Amino acid sequence: MLKSICLLFLAINLVACTTPEKKVMIILVDGVPADVLESVDTPILDQIAAQGGYTRAYQGGGKDEYTQTPTISAPGYMNMITGVWGNKHNVWGNAVRNPNYNYWNIFRTVKAVNPEMTTAIFSTWEDNRTKLVGEGKPDAGNFMFDHSYDGFELDTVRFPHTDDRTFMFTIDETVSQGAADYVLSDAPNLSWVYLEFTDDMGHMYGDSPQMIEAVKGMDNQVGRIWAAIQQREKDFNEDWMIVVTTDHGRSEDTGMGHGGQSERERTTWIVTDQNNLNERFKSNPPVVDVAASVLRFLNIEVPAQIKEEMDGIPFIGDISIMNANAKTAGDELTLTWDVADKSGSVEIYQTSTNNFAKGGVDEYSLLGKAEVKDGLFKMAVTFPVGTTKLLLKAPHNWLNVWVIVE
Ligand SMILES: [Zn+2]
Repeated sequence: MLKSICLLFLAINLVACTTPEKKVMIILVDGVPADVLESVDTPILDQIAAQGGYTRAYQGGGKDEYTQTPTISAPGYMNMITGVWGNKHNVWGNAVRNPNYNYWNIFRTVKAVNPEMTTAIFSTWEDNRTKLVGEGKPDAGNFMFDHSYDGFELDTVRFPHTDDRTFMFTIDETVSQGAADYVLSDAPNLSWVYLEFTDDMGHMYGDSPQMIEAVKGMDNQVGRIWAAIQQREKDFNEDWMIVVTTDHGRSEDTGMGHGGQSERERTTWIVTDQNNLNERFKSNPPVVDVAASVLRFLNIEVPAQIKEEMDGIPFIGDISIMNANAKTAGDELTLTWDVADKSGSVEIYQTSTNNFAKGGVDEYSLLGKAEVKDGLFKMAVTFPVGTTKLLLKAPHNWLNVWVIVE
């Protein structure tokens, strides 16, 4: 892969090196359980994974915890684009009634930090742009994509809605072709492609030959986008990251439903071409890591207040800590984390306000310090009734975890 181009100007005896421009393509395909994906021949996803990796992953937040989020489509997409769970983004169903836009999505963050960067969406569901990202809404920051290609599911003349739902496949074909064409011509810095047909086949036929065919069709659609990316890397000084994932698994018994917290509904997967995958990628990463990974890849300096709230951490590059857990018993706090890189110390901050959720600011105070390698912080402390937010700052990454006192 082309990582940098150095041009030698012999005449003036000067070596000039240019850093390749970073580009990201995220593809979310709807409702493909990990066991189904692993059983179907998907040569394109295999090709991408051969450059980077494939892992099982999860949706649904922490089971029976305050971050638990239904394994429903729209909440699953929102987890991915904001890097936070339902207790923060407040999307609980496909009606998307009252999203909390204070938790910025990656498109808004990228644009706010680096207005030069371009964003695009290619989607078989228009609500991804109009409701989840909240394009043009003042409370969503008046964010506008530089390019959008969606709404085809509302065009019943061009795509007659037949009972067999095959029009959805045709729309996915249109969307994936539109994405491939636009990557070739304009190569946005951050793109999101959403394809739906796999979920339709799941709902209609469950675990079935129709589902398997739909997964094969999806692989082919990803293939035309992947081909466009490879062409760009050949022709231009660009460094691309591709991430392909899904929004939920399916029910254990038939594969028709989803929404609950069974292992099969929660278990998803991530494919990426990135080869600097860290320990996090190999230990069942949550979908919220996608946002953090994309922002790191694009070298986006995330505003501290946004970063303090992010539930995901990057699965590429260096990380120090992961999987924070806080328990209180009497007046003792026990805070634990898994160690990814032993070096340095962790600063632990706390705030018992959640003004951020309403667009305000929280004042954090330092609670204490611990060595990263210990994986443990204990302290005699009493938290007020309600939610206290703990923030762990380690050398390579931050984590946050809530303590809820009833
Ligand atoms: Zn779905």
